[in-house]
Order: sequence, then structure tokens, then C-alpha cells
Amino acid sequence: MEQCITIESLRHARNTLGNVGFVPTMGFLHEGHLSLVRRAKAENDAVIVSIFVNPAQFGPGEDFETYPRSLEQDMALLAKEGVDIVFTPKAGDIYPQNYVTEVSVKGVATQLEGASRPGHFTGVATIVTKLFNIVQPQKAYFGQKDAQQCAVIKRFVADLNIPVTIITVPTWREKDGLASSSRNVRLNPEEREKAPALYKALQRAQSLFQKGERDRNVLEKAIRDTLKQNNIEKIDYAKIVDPLTFQEVNPVSESGIALLAVPFSQARLIDNLPLALE
Ligand code: AMP
Repeated sequence: MEQCITIESLRHARNTLGNVGFVPTMGFLHEGHLSLVRRAKAENDAVIVSIFVNPAQFGPGEDFETYPRSLEQDMALLAKEGVDIVFTPKAGDIYPQNYVTEVSVKGVATQLEGASRPGHFTGVATIVTKLFNIVQPQKAYFGQKDAQQCAVIKRFVADLNIPVTIITVPTWREKDGLASSSRNVRLNPEEREKAPALYKALQRAQSLFQKGERDRNVLEKAIRDTLKQNNIEKIDYAKIVDPLTFQEVNPVSESGIALLAVPFSQARLIDNLPLALE
């Protein structure tokens, strides 16, 4: 496994490979990330993983400085998976001083996470576009865990005619149902005990949907009520939307997806569940 730090060295190393599957990450890797890597490995000649905590997608007051990092451990995990190249660029090379261009997505990027975290998806769309141009993968892998991110990426890839196939990989969960996340380490023991209620709340909406409930308000209330029953009082949002446009739909259709965001003391967690599946 080769580590490339400069853009030039990455381009050079990439040119020796055939079809590339690409997994962009911010590091502090867990089984969820590795499930993307395994899928990429199975479907391509070679796999490139990037590790870059992208300052542009963190708002003022968010956790850029304290975002967990563990490069040495990440490298060992990726070597074990048989990854070909790990790209770990420096922020100064990605955003040099004269840098003034952004990729800004309207529509799907404006609701939920877009509304709660202004500028977040512009940061995501900009870095992912840059990484696609640098790595030039045939396929790129993203987690369903970040459902809105997947929708935003599919939108701008289509809109900007970027020649890459976007693959969405199912959410990887801990045994108790909590979606794996680099930020889970920042939950205190009491919060960690409560956190599986996020998945329970989504499952509650899914179960009502599968019994025939199609009223968005009823389903969203069921999510909020389940969180409250599990002593989670502060909820950023609990919504049912269309998975492509992220517009609220009522009555809810078969493709509807339930999403929520819950702030804990040191970490804000998000999760989602398509209503018709599982
Ligand atoms: P991050 O390092 O948080 O930017 O995540 C990198 C990629 O891993 C993104 O495409 C995420 O959606 C994906 N990912 C993160 N957590 C999970 C999970 N629990 N299951 C599946 N994919 C995940």
C-alpha cells in the first residue's frame, strides 16, 4: 500500500492502475468505512482511499479542531484490507491561498443538514469534485448513513457530467443498532446508552409505514415520541422526505425516507432509514 501526500504523486501512482474504486473519508476509520472499502475492492481493479478532514465543510463553532484523528491506526486498517493507495493531502495544497472556486448545489442541498449546517454541502460538493478530478475513479463509494450527502453528490455528478458512477453502501450499525460514526467516541457513557434510541425511533416509523400509515405528520411524531420516551429531549430534526429531492411529501410514498439529527453534549448524530425496506 502506497501513501501519497501530494496531488502530483497521487496522479502519478493512479496512472499505473486500471479501473479505480474510490472511497473518500475523513479518517478515524470504523467498520462502516471498511464496508465501503470492501465493496470497492470487490468491484474494481484497484482501490484508492482518501483521508482528509475537510475544513470547508465545517461551520464556525463546529468540531473541525476536535474531530477525532488516528492516521497510524487508519493506515494499518487499510493495509489489512488490501487498499492500493491512501491519499492524505495537506489542506494548503487542496485550498491554496488564491483559491476562490466553490461547487454550490441548490434544491436537495438546502433542506435538513443544509439548513442546520449552512455551507456544509458546498464544502462537501467542492472537496468531492476536487477529489474526483484528482483521483479520476470509475466508481466512488458513499454510505447511506449520510443519505442527504449521497443525494447531493448524485445531483452534482449528473449536473456537471462528471464521469463517475456513485455507489451507495448500506449503513453499518453496532450490535445495538447505533449507526457507526467517528463521532460516537465523543458520547459520554450515559449518552452512549441512550443513542440506540435513534435507530429505534426510525424503526418505529418504518413499522407504522409498513402497517399502512402514510401521514407524514403521524410518522414524524412517532419518531419524536420514541426519542422522548428514551429520554432524548433535544431533537434537531425528525423528517420524512423524498430520497432524491429531500422535499417533504404527504402522503408519504414507497420511496420515502425517515431522517433525524440529535445533538448530544459533544457530538451531533444523524441517522436515517428508508421506510419500505428491511
Ligand atoms: P466520513 O469519514 O464520516 O466522512 O465518512 C466517509 C464515508 O463513510 C461517507 O461516505 C460516509 O457516509 C461513510 N460512512 C460513515 N459511517 C458509515 C456507516 N456507519 N455505514 C456506512 N457508511 C458509513
